[in-house]
Amino acid sequence: RAKADMRRGVCYYEAEMDEAARLRRELILELRRAAEREEFELHYQLQAELPTRSAPVALPPPGEAPAVAAEALLGAGTSTIVGYEALLRWRHPVRGYVSPAEFIPLAEETGLILPIGAWVLRAACREAAAWRGSYRVAVNLSAVQIAHCDLPALVAEVLAESGLPATRLELEITETSIIEDKARCLAALEAVRALGVTIALDDFGTGYSSLDTLRSFPFHRIKLDRTFMRDIATSAESRAILRAVLTLGRSLDIRVLAEGVETIEQLALLAEEGCSEVQGFLFGRPERQVEAACGCAAA
Ligand code: C2E
Ligand code: MG
Ligand code: MG
Ligand code: MG
Repeated sequence: RAKADMRRGVCYYEAEMDEAARLRRELILELRRAAEREEFELHYQLQAELPTRSAPVALPPPGEAPAVAAEALLGAGTSTIVGYEALLRWRHPVRGYVSPAEFIPLAEETGLILPIGAWVLRAACREAAAWRGSYRVAVNLSAVQIAHCDLPALVAEVLAESGLPATRLELEITETSIIEDKARCLAALEAVRALGVTIALDDFGTGYSSLDTLRSFPFHRIKLDRTFMRDIATSAESRAILRAVLTLGRSLDIRVLAEGVETIEQLALLAEEGCSEVQGFLFGRPERQVEAACGCAAA
């Protein structure tokens, strides 16, 4: 009985594996085609700067509309849009929008991230150069791009052809993309930094947050991962971590941006702790047009 059950379990497992493998092969083929047919587009999510507060921040009454509450909290018109993060979208002819979480890992394994990543950089700089405001544009880089292409040359070329000032471009990298070849990565990022481009450490706090990396890499900004925002209102630990990261940022002269701000309560806490850079659904979802994203709550 047990044996039969186990055999059935194994068969079921194998069938599932076959199905997963088939889907995977199909996706790789389609991804390759998508890169040729330009089925990709960039959506932009705004990054805002809050006024710094010295006094404790009073929460607006519950149930207040987000825009009204944010105004009550921050003062009308005082927070400003400073940039937009470019987030890649795959507009699949049949499946609709496919999430980057689904296809970026595949693109990395297959090397397709190199042409796709170059396309992202090119499109982001071209589109940002045409915006009415001179916001910075933040582009996500994959570890593979840092390790396998001449990043400084690519960035210089893309800036030159788009006409975007280097100071308006920011590159986001994660801690995991650094660990592979630290020396090479550092050299590439320093060369990019020398062009005037800023570097942000993305998803901070989820990977190998080595203090040595913070000290030796030319980071302009740390993006505190949104997992810390989730329970910031209820967890003393998350709040302590936020405070520690803000202190660290101040002493190392690295700016700190909080990712994943969704509620007024989170915003109030951030303002109280002195975190002045935010990004999240409260301010705006990723949108195709930057103008459309301007109807945000607090900016
Ligand atoms: P990320 O760089 O950390 O980007 C932030 C992600 O959090 C985005 O997901 C964004 O839509 C989502 N987000 C923003 N605000 C909130 C919020 O308030 N609440 C919640 N729950 N989520 C929020 P998205 O667009 O699905 O991207 C996922 C990841 O895919 C990105 O994480 C980034 O690592 C990667 N990615 C996206 N575009 C590119 C790209 O062009 N190149 C590379 N290499 N990776 C990319
Ligand atoms: Mg990012
Ligand atoms: Mg992030
Ligand atoms: Mg992320």
